[in-house]
Amino acid sequence: MIAAETRPQEDLHSVWEGVLEVIQQNTTPQTYNTWFAPTKLLSDDEKTLRINVPNNFFAEWLESHYSKLISNAVLQHVGEQRKVRFVPRDSKPVNSAYHPLDWKSEPAGNQKPLHTDALYSTRINERYTFENFIVGDSNNFAYAASRAVAESPGETKYNPLIIYGGTGLGKTHLIQAIGNYSVRKKPGTRVYYASSETFTTHFINSIQENKASEFSAFYRSCDILLLDDIQFFAKKGKTQEEFFHTFNDLQQNKKQIVLTSDRPINELNGLEERLLSRFNSGLVVDVQPPDFETRLAILRNKCDESGLEIPADVLEYLAVNLTSNVRILEGALTKIMAQVTFTAAEPTVELARTIATEIAPPDKNNLSIDLIMTYVAKSFQLPIDQLRAKTRKREIVKARQAAMYLAKKLTNHSLITIGLHFGGRDHTTVIHSLENVGQRLKEDPIFAQKLQAMEKHLEYNR
Ligand code: ADP
Ligand code: MG
Repeated sequence: MIAAETRPQEDLHSVWEGVLEVIQQNTTPQTYNTWFAPTKLLSDDEKTLRINVPNNFFAEWLESHYSKLISNAVLQHVGEQRKVRFVPRDSKPVNSAYHPLDWKSEPAGNQKPLHTDALYSTRINERYTFENFIVGDSNNFAYAASRAVAESPGETKYNPLIIYGGTGLGKTHLIQAIGNYSVRKKPGTRVYYASSETFTTHFINSIQENKASEFSAFYRSCDILLLDDIQFFAKKGKTQEEFFHTFNDLQQNKKQIVLTSDRPINELNGLEERLLSRFNSGLVVDVQPPDFETRLAILRNKCDESGLEIPADVLEYLAVNLTSNVRILEGALTKIMAQVTFTAAEPTVELARTIATEIAPPDKNNLSIDLIMTYVAKSFQLPIDQLRAKTRKREIVKARQAAMYLAKKLTNHSLITIGLHFGGRDHTTVIHSLENVGQRLKEDPIFAQKLQAMEKHLEYNR
């Protein structure tokens, strides 16, 4: 093996080309041309191959469908295992250098510094910007308030700014756009984005690890704290208390707080009175389902971004028929684009109709990963901590992997988020678990039956 620095440039490129050759021999020409031909090597540091792919959709697809094929090919060609990381062309690579949960894996006395700027904006999707947020009557107030806060964080009367509204209406997009904008405007701004579930998980882990003061120092060191979906704080007394103190501290120090909720503040049952009154001291704005023109503009914008031509009547069909949720609207268009790109289907109103009916909107957002974990732990008669613990006992691994599988299937959470809930595991571990469950489902009918029963139960009780 030649060290990366001394290797000539062509060699570097030929590493991935060699891997591609092996893949080509082991898959159909159609699969190869669709999924592998458009990939390119970005860098290779002897541990990780970073591979450039056209978009996020590609990256997720490759990870979920071809990770075995790829790792086998790497092993065969390189002679040893390397991590393969897909970097969508439309986004910068996620900097996963830091996460509070990494405290877990840090050996004692070797703590990472908590106050490095690069640590903060790691969780923000760079594609969520103000520029590609379509403004209409349904969301212009929320948009304007978000812009104002992003312009002068901590300096407006809008602290906290709270955005509420139904699922799929752009709350996460807006709150992350604030983060992206502020960092671009003033590099070094310490922005941290987390869902309230992640905040809760960090908090619980920090207590278990005796790191409560690091937890508190980290959250209090943000210039802008973006906390998504605060309805998840309901009935979590200790977490609310910790959040209350963090909140006060940030507010007193003129740091910006932005929160989202899926319902109005006065309907946040299970949240303490003192928190609710703090929330009302800032600005509360709502996002409503977009009107027809806005829906159509969102679809047109997405077509422009992708460079694919979809006829106007197809877009209109979608805008007329999918009215309540932008995520579903976009999802339908993505499906049409995928079919047009990969199966050479014609983008007709007929196709739009088929896809729109298929997408009968399952509301995946109501089910939380925590709820799934609680239920799976109970079904396997294990304490829930075991699902987060390091232990590799057979029965526990089985339960843990089943819970990850159900979390992937029944929620919209990313592999990274799912990994975090299971004691801060890496997303590749989650992928590996999903593969194991897939295999076990084929080989073990009793396990398959049990998993199916759990899935049904969770579906009906969501
Ligand atoms: P929420 O957090 O309210 O459930 P998201 O912010 O996740 O919703 O939005 C769902 C999807 O819809 C995202 O891909 C987002 O970019 C898109 N979206 C929502 N509203 C708009 C808008 N006004 N303009 C452009 N895209 C939007
Ligand atoms: Mg959201």
